[in-house]
Order: sequence, then structure tokens, then C-alpha cells
Amino acid sequence: MTITSINPATNETLETFEPLSKDQVTDLIATADDGYRSWRKTSIDHRKRIILNFAHQLRERVDEFARLITRDMGKRISESRKEIEFCAEIAEFYANGAERFLADQPMKDVQADAYIHFEPIGVLIGVMPWNFPFYQVTRFAAPNIMAGNTVMVKHASNVPQCADAIANLFAESGLPEGVYTNLFIPSEFVDPIVADSRVQGVSLTGSEKAGAAVAALAGKNLKRSVLELGGNDAFIVLDDADLTKAVKLAVEGRMVNAGQSCVAAKRFIVVESIADEFLEQFKQAMSEMKMGDPMDDDTTLAPWSTEGAAVQLLDQVQATIDAGATVLLGGDRPNREGAFFNPTILTDVTPDMPTYDQELFGPVATVYVVKDEEAAIELANDSSYGLGGSVYTTDVERGRRVAERIETGMVFINQPTNSQAELPFGGIKNSGYGRELSHLGILEFVNKKLIHLG
Ligand code: NDP
Repeated sequence: MTITSINPATNETLETFEPLSKDQVTDLIATADDGYRSWRKTSIDHRKRIILNFAHQLRERVDEFARLITRDMGKRISESRKEIEFCAEIAEFYANGAERFLADQPMKDVQADAYIHFEPIGVLIGVMPWNFPFYQVTRFAAPNIMAGNTVMVKHASNVPQCADAIANLFAESGLPEGVYTNLFIPSEFVDPIVADSRVQGVSLTGSEKAGAAVAALAGKNLKRSVLELGGNDAFIVLDDADLTKAVKLAVEGRMVNAGQSCVAAKRFIVVESIADEFLEQFKQAMSEMKMGDPMDDDTTLAPWSTEGAAVQLLDQVQATIDAGATVLLGGDRPNREGAFFNPTILTDVTPDMPTYDQELFGPVATVYVVKDEEAAIELANDSSYGLGGSVYTTDVERGRRVAERIETGMVFINQPTNSQAELPFGGIKNSGYGRELSHLGILEFVNKKLIHLG
């Protein structure tokens, strides 16, 4: 079975890649392990030069890489460009910061004369999703390579052009063989890799199902793991919010990457005194989205990553409508070629409906009207997910109080949850564990070794 890039805007097959055999994978693990033995001895300065080179190339060739993202998975070209530029920022952040993040840490306020020394642990495997094909890989690879680990990446099977380009770019930037390895493999091949004694950890971003499978395997083999899974983020609009701003951000927060983001705003929880006005403005703004070719800068609504993803989303939406939800906008797919979906707003969604506690990975907003702030917090926390969330109020102190009571890994006030190189990213509950980005991201797969000076 080949690995195929299909343009979701046209369903046209663009390129195919041959998957690796099990024997080839075994050889590549050996190369990554050999690579680790020498890479761990290189200076931070040496690593920094290569990763800065990687960042420089991303900036120089932004259009070329952005087009690959758009062709593989249909992201709007302007968002693809932003993704490449963000990857350059992440690479620079770790290249410039690694020395500081990994500096020996003296033990303070203890009797012993001791310190913590940070060391790499070995070969890691990253299992990556298609929704931000360059970003997801960069935020895993850049910190770990700077820390002295070597990484193997099993990218999602629908973004092979991106997977190939990233591996080539690392090599062209000067990384020796075995430090970054792209694996064109089916997901069943991940099991023996995690189980291999030379592999020390696994990081997965994707669905709960894939996360649970990989975490079980990591546990069985006593390997470290980081999981960044789905989310069902609340977007809480309080009675004192700036409504015009909240509506604008609601559309941006829901429609980022055509709704295919783990931290997209998904559940809009609005206090009843402003609910009618919010719904009217939100519906108007959502209905103005311009569906079209993702290569066209004027398009504001791109297709879904694959035809299969659009079909699955329609099933989820239809099941909710069949169970009694009200369709305020959309609820179906347009009659046109490509993996498109109409902007959708559902109301009257209740806890007994199948999608109440499911992630809707597309342009589907569910809006809940609640009595007051207390009810908003209660509903926000009634989720098996715990990734991000946001609160809208003109009283920042009130926003802070609400934010502290939301059971997630990240809460933003007056802006939708987003990702920044220097801020930690990750969740609790079924959204996973561990943190990526920031100084915390580089500490997930290092040995925090105690040295006691006697
Ligand atoms: P998956 O979780 O299936 O895919 C993510 C990655 O995991 C891919 O590389 C995939 O490989 C791999 N994978 C899948 N199953 C296993 C397994 N058992 N063992 C090892 N690797 C595995 O996501 P989907 O693309 O199917 O999307 C489904 C849903 O997941 C979305 O609708 C969304 O809710 C959520 N999701 C969340 C993301 C996030 O950013 N947190 C990103 C993507 C999806 P392959 O492509 O070969 O199957």
C-alpha cells in the first residue's frame, strides 16, 4: 500500500510514496541510535548553528513550504505561510534558549551540596497529525534535537509531501544522518518501534484513540510519553464582554485551520442577558465565510483535510440534529467538488446527545445559553477534555477568577487559546499530558540527573 498525497480541494492524487519495510525500519532505528551516540556529544553551539539554519531556510522558502501544506491537506495559503513562519520562530526559540533551559540547576534551600544536570536520553519517536504538518513536527523535533536526543517521525499518512520536505530540510540544514529520520510507515509499525529497547520515548499528537493505544504501549514498555490529544474548548462570553470583539474572536477561534485545531473554540457558552445579540451577530459573521480554493488569498473557508474527515463530521452533526439539536446555520455540505463543509451553528445541544462530549473537528460551533457566570463555569467543566479555553469580559480580574476555575491546561482571557513558542502548551483529562513549547517542552525527554557533591 502506497502513501498518497491527495489534494482535498479537488480530490486529485498528487504524489505517492513507497512505505518502508519492517527490515528497513529496524536499520533506521540502528542509524538513529548510532546517531544519538555522537549527537549527544556535540556542543550546544554546534546544534544551535544547524537549527538556526533550519529556521533561516524556512523563512527563505516560506512560499514553497506553504504550498506543500495547502496541497497535502487543504489549509488556506495565508495560514500555511503563517505556520511556516511560526516554525521558524519555534526553531529559533530553542536554538537560542537551549543553553539557558538546560543549564545546571543548583539545589537551593537544601542541606546537600547538589545540583541537577540535564542530559539527553536517546532515540525518540514522534507520531504526528496532519492538521499543522510543519508546526507539530517542529515543536517536537527542535527542542529534542537541541537537547541532544535523536528523533524519528511517523507523520500522518495524508501529508507525505510535507513529511518528506521536513526531513530533506533538516538534512540540508546540516543535521547528520540519524538525528532526524522520516518514517513512511503505517500506524501498525509504531508498536515495535516503541517497544524497541533503543527507543526511549514517544510523543503523539492526535486522537484519543491513537493516544490511548500508544500510551498503553509506552506504559507496557516503561517508556516516557507525551500526549497532546483532542479538545472541546469552551469560549465563555460573560455579560460585560465587548460583544463586537467577542463575536469577531468567536469566528476566528472556531474557524482557525477550517476548524481543525485541537485548541479551536468549540463550545460557545454565553450568558443569557447578551445571548440573543451574540447569536445574531455570530450567525451573520459565520454566514459571510467565503468557501473556495485554498490557494486563493481571498478564500476564508478552506476544504477539510480529506473527504473521509468531511464525511465523518457530517455523521456527527447529523446525529446531533437527529437527537433534537436546532440548526441555526448550515448543518450540511455544499454541492461542490472537494472536501468542503458549510459553516454550522447548532443550539439546544443537551448532555444526552451523542456529540455533547465529542470533539467536532471542523467549522461547527455549538452555542449554549446559560443563566450566569457560575453556570458557565459548570458547563465548561462538564467535559472529558481539558485542553484550552477562553473567557470574554471587560473586567480582567473577573476573567482571571473564572480562568482559575476552568479545568484545562490553558485559559486565555479576551483571546482564543493559541500557541506561542515561549508559552507551555498541553492539557489535562482526556486531552493528554505533558507540555510542549516553552522551557517546559525541552525538559520532557531529558534525564534530570542529580549530582551530589559529597
Ligand atoms: P489520528 O489520531 O488517527 O492520527 C494522528 C496520528 O496518529 C497519525 O500519524 C496516525 O497515523 C497515527 N495513528 C493513528 N492510530 C495509531 C495507532 N493505533 N498507533 C500509532 N499511531 C497511530 O487522527 P485522525 O487523523 O484520524 O483524526 C481523528 C480525530 O482526531 C480528529 O477528528 C480530531 O478529533 C483528532 N485529532 C486531533 C489532533 C490534535 O491536534 N490534537 C490532530 C489530529 C486529529 P495514520 O495517519 O497513518 O493513521
